[in-house]
Amino acid sequence: MSPLIIALDFARVEQVWSLIDRLDAKQCRLKVGKELFTRGGPVLVEQLQARGFEIFLDLKFHDIPHTVAQAVSAAADLGVWMVNVHASGGRRMMEAAVTALAEYQKRPHLIAVTVLTSMEDADLHEVGMTMDSDAQVRLLADLAMSCGLDGVVCSGHEVSALRHVHPGSLFVTPGIRPAGSSADDQRRTLTPRLAMQAGATHLVVGRPVTRAADPAAALSGLLLDLASSD
Ligand code: C5P
Repeated sequence: MSPLIIALDFARVEQVWSLIDRLDAKQCRLKVGKELFTRGGPVLVEQLQARGFEIFLDLKFHDIPHTVAQAVSAAADLGVWMVNVHASGGRRMMEAAVTALAEYQKRPHLIAVTVLTSMEDADLHEVGMTMDSDAQVRLLADLAMSCGLDGVVCSGHEVSALRHVHPGSLFVTPGIRPAGSSADDQRRTLTPRLAMQAGATHLVVGRPVTRAADPAAALSGLLLDLASSD
């Protein structure tokens, strides 16, 4: 299985099906986030899984420990491959999630979001987080791993520092762009190969595939970039 996870950032469920018809479940996994899940619900996730796709349910749970434990259990019952929580929910919340999933024989990977990449240092300060964002990312990644989570979502630039302190963890990296393509609103991008070289274990790619005139060709291009050695 390739490390590619295609972000289904669509407003309408019909848009998903026209894309899915052109993608091969052996070549990528799919990410379902808040917008699509709120529109399509668990039924959509089940339908995608029935088509052979493994699902990263990107709902970034952040609540009291009991609620988050119940929510990740619901994700496990749904059969998703990966689910995530906000590390800033704290140790008790993350440990409750880990404990809830320990009961499952086949459980989803549980990963944490550290600092949203939309937050700049000034935004962090405004909500009382006075460390700079790199230090905050490191602190929350360390906390997540010490709670027994499987990994973190992090940028290709953060991953090189984190992989050395947390070898064996999962690093799910967005902001992936093929060489020469539009960055869209991403500030710092990496090609698939460079992100993997930096230490990412999985790559989240949205618009370069979902908005491509030929999504299958775009996916093949990303896989070719991964396979090339120079
Ligand atoms: O279209 P694009 O490839 O930029 O989509 C990236 C996906 O990764 C989107 O679903 C976006 O919400 C998500 N993401 C991100 N940056 C983060 C975390 C998630 O771009 N730090």
